[in-house]
Amino acid sequence: MSRTRTPVVTGWFVGDGAEFRLLGTRCSACGSVFFPREDTCCRDPGCRGGDLAEVPLSRRGRVWSYTDSRYRPPSPYVTDPELPWEPCALIAVELESERIVVLGQAVPGITVADLTVGMEMEVVPGVLHEDAETTWTTWRWRPTGVE
Ligand SMILES: [Zn+2]
Repeated sequence: MSRTRTPVVTGWFVGDGAEFRLLGTRCSACGSVFFPREDTCCRDPGCRGGDLAEVPLSRRGRVWSYTDSRYRPPSPYVTDPELPWEPCALIAVELESERIVVLGQAVPGITVADLTVGMEMEVVPGVLHEDAETTWTTWRWRPTGVE
């Protein structure tokens, strides 16, 4: 039986393979970009507020900070309480043109020992969790040049 591929959160990313992109929103008044997307009103307190339009984010950024995730992360991450929690690297990646930092897990096999601040990273599609009917998809950060 094949599982349906379903994003773990709707509207945060789109596409697959080389076309995979995170989606944010940009304020038409001040140009600020938000991820997770902000669809209600601009979060910049100095902004009079503008329309918020969906924008695909840069696929690449640089490591701003990272940590070993040794606890079960909160929603929208899904973990099976029956299984031991596998620590994984949680990375904050700065997108230069948007001037925002996007958190995400590293691809499987990348640990904090593989990371340095300033390293170039690329967003790739990933699998968060699978159950009987559904493959829940998410995004992951991967060092550029690693397949
Ligand atoms: Zn604004």
